[in-house]
Amino acid sequence: MRATVLYGAGDVRVENVTDARLIEPTDALIAISRACICGSDLWPYNLMEPGEAGRPMGHEAIGVVEAVGAEVRTLKAGDVVVMPFAYSDGTCDFCHEGLHTSCIHGGFFGSVEVPGAQAEAVRVPQADGTLFVLPVGRDDALMPSLLTLSDVMGTGHHAALVARVGPGKTVAVVGDGAVGLCGVIAARRLGAEQIIILGRHADRIALAKEFGATDVVSERGEEAVERVRELTGGFGVHSILECVGTDQAMLTSIGIARPGGAVGRVGVPHYETIPAAQPAFYSNVTVGGGPAPVRAYIEELLPDVLEGRIEPGRVFDRVISLDEVPDGYRAMNERESIKVMVKP
Ligand SMILES: [Zn+2]
Repeated sequence: MRATVLYGAGDVRVENVTDARLIEPTDALIAISRACICGSDLWPYNLMEPGEAGRPMGHEAIGVVEAVGAEVRTLKAGDVVVMPFAYSDGTCDFCHEGLHTSCIHGGFFGSVEVPGAQAEAVRVPQADGTLFVLPVGRDDALMPSLLTLSDVMGTGHHAALVARVGPGKTVAVVGDGAVGLCGVIAARRLGAEQIIILGRHADRIALAKEFGATDVVSERGEEAVERVRELTGGFGVHSILECVGTDQAMLTSIGIARPGGAVGRVGVPHYETIPAAQPAFYSNVTVGGGPAPVRAYIEELLPDVLEGRIEPGRVFDRVISLDEVPDGYRAMNERESIKVMVKP
C-alpha cells in the first residue's frame, strides 16, 4: 500500500510499504477515506535529523472498517469510523476518568510499531475503545467537520476546558492554526463573552472572526500583552488557550492571564521549563493541559457537528491526494494553507 514516511527535515515521501494488517485480536483494519496533515507534524518536518529510520506519519482519519480481530465486539466491516490521534482501550482507570491519552494500554499513531494514517490503510489497536462509529455515509458532506473530531476540534475543546472557559468569561486564544481556530469555536460554544485571537495571518484571522472571535491582537511579545490588557480593562483574561507550544507563546499566555486565571496548553511544548514562574505564582495563575483525550469528547461534540451548530471543517482549505502529501506539508509549513485534507 501507499503511505507517508518522514525521513528527515523537509524529506517526506509517499512510498510503497507493507500492507497494514491485523496483528492483535483487539485490532481493526481501516481503509482510510479522509486523513489530514497536523500542525504537530510540522515539528519533525522541520527538525528531524536525517539518517534515522523513517517515521510513518499521520494521526487523524476517518475510514471504513475492513476487518476486525477476533476479540473486537463493537465494530464490523463497513462501519464508518473516526480515529482519535491516540488509541485507548476505553476500560482502564484513566479511560474511565476521561483521560484516554493516558490509557495504560494506549499510545499514539505514527510510529514504526503503530504506523500512521496518511496512508491507504491503518491498523488500529484497541479498536473497541479507540474507534467511534459515525452515523453517516462515507461521502457525507459533513466529513471535513467530522474529521476534526479526530484531533483539532477535540484539542481546541480540551484547551478551553482546562482554561476553565465558561459563560461570561474573557478568553484569549494564542495561535491561529487549526487548533487555535477550533479553540475559538470551543470558547464560543462554552459561552465565552469576549474571545481575543492572537495571530497575524489574514486568512486565519478572518476565519477566527467568523467562528466567534471578538477581538484580534497581531502584536507579539510584550506589545501583545499590553494590547490584551487594554482590551480587558487592564486585568487580562480569565482563560488562555495556548495552541502553539513555544516558550514565547507560554510567556505571552501567562502575561495576559488575569489574576486567578488559567492557561490550557495544547501546543506540544518545545521548551524544557515553563517560563514566568514568578508572575504565574503571584497572580495565582493555573497552567495545565496536555494531549487532549479527544476520544472522550466525540460524543459531546458530535451532535453540534451533525446539526450544523459548529463547522470546524472550515479549517480545511486544501484537499489533496495521497501522492500530493509532500506538497501538502510544504504548503502548511509555508502558511500557504491552514490545514490540508488528504483523500487517499
Ligand atoms: Zn484505557
